[in-house]
Amino acid sequence: MGRYDETKKSSGAKGKKFGHAGRVEDPYRPEEGQEASICTSCRALYQNKRWFFDDKLAARLGGTEKVRQVLCPTCRKIKDGYPEGILTLSGDFFRERRPEIITLIKNEADRVSSRSVLDRVIKMAEEGQNKLVVETSTEKLAQRLGRAVYRAYKGKLDFRWAAMNRFVRVNWSR
Ligand SMILES: [Zn+2]
Repeated sequence: MGRYDETKKSSGAKGKKFGHAGRVEDPYRPEEGQEASICTSCRALYQNKRWFFDDKLAARLGGTEKVRQVLCPTCRKIKDGYPEGILTLSGDFFRERRPEIITLIKNEADRVSSRSVLDRVIKMAEEGQNKLVVETSTEKLAQRLGRAVYRAYKGKLDFRWAAMNRFVRVNWSR
């Protein structure tokens, strides 16, 4: 489909969870009698093992006994500076079109993040004139942002997954 290089790591390793095979205590589960848990930082809600945004429900539950206050996994990754994806953009073309490429990245990230609590940009840092490093909370978001830039501007895109952890490096250059 795409014309970029996609170097997948060895099969079966992707998405593998470490730790016990048995039942794991859910650290975000609301207490007995509570309707949901809420992230004190981004106001994401957690019900039935699922994270989502719902402003109305957050406004109704926020600050009441019916909700448990937690820090969601995404805000925790941001707080700890623990990305699962790093997208690097570089090249002369990037330098020339930097503002519009950065806008494209931000728009795409906003679109995804408004729907999904788990996908968020942790940090965007410019390294000199022709390089930008974007850290994301999930592998998926780094890939998605890289593909969006590739779709709009072509260039060269590649993905490199870490052998042991959930982590991907996405490089785009033109
Ligand atoms: Zn949060």
